[in-house]
Amino acid sequence: MSDTNLATVPLERIAVHTITNRPWSLRECVDAYAAAGFGGVSVWREAIQPIELGEAARIISGSGLRVPALVRGGFMVHASEADRARAADDNKRCVGEAAAIGAEMIVIVPGSSPDVPLAEGRKMVQGALASMVEHAASAGVKLALEPLHPMYAGDRSCVNTLTQAREICEAIDRPHLGVAVDVFHVWWDDRLEHEIALLGKQDRLFAFHVCDFKPDMNNILTDRGLMGEGCVPIREIRSMMENAGFSGMIEVEVLSEHHWARDQTAYLAEIVRACEAHV
Ligand code: ZN
Repeated sequence: MSDTNLATVPLERIAVHTITNRPWSLRECVDAYAAAGFGGVSVWREAIQPIELGEAARIISGSGLRVPALVRGGFMVHASEADRARAADDNKRCVGEAAAIGAEMIVIVPGSSPDVPLAEGRKMVQGALASMVEHAASAGVKLALEPLHPMYAGDRSCVNTLTQAREICEAIDRPHLGVAVDVFHVWWDDRLEHEIALLGKQDRLFAFHVCDFKPDMNNILTDRGLMGEGCVPIREIRSMMENAGFSGMIEVEVLSEHHWARDQTAYLAEIVRACEAHV
């Protein structure tokens, strides 16, 4: 399916992840995003670590920006019980942080371990999410399970497709648990449109992350493309999301050493142009 006649997304409907401008402090990020006309900021935990949580909350609430997400919780797959308990404690703290800064959801990177078979890892993720979601719901925070590209199956995510993520959500079946669709991770999947439609029917489409996938990337973590620099049909996927009823913010999330080394003000202006041209 191709729909290139979609209207440009107004910047008020777009949020930027602080990791996109990693050299900037939280205050620099929110000031620049608000001044550029973006409607939201998704906050990485590393951006709030250097300051007090209360101070972070004040900076964000003073900006008038929406906060679709705190990024990221999860990392729930460990061979030892003690490590799993530590991860559960950290995820509990993450819920508290999300509530404090008014984040609507936490992005869950499920985790994976070379010591744990993938199917067993997915059971661990399901168990950990089932315990975490009640706590999150009572704090008014949603959990968005993000499937990661299969190239991360060894150490970052045993959940690699929207199908696997949906099945975990269905097994737990709580309204505060849904899925984050990140084009970098799922653009290649021949079930993409089918899964997005199904997740939409189930009210589980919580987030839509955009960047680009460069086939010649030199680092699988930190060489993501700005929209338009790679091979992802972003507009087509946006159309699938909107046809499935998604009306939330579109989140720009670009992890890139190349772009972090540049002047961030000039880079943000280019992000605005990339949103207009490719999202
Ligand atoms: Zn993402």
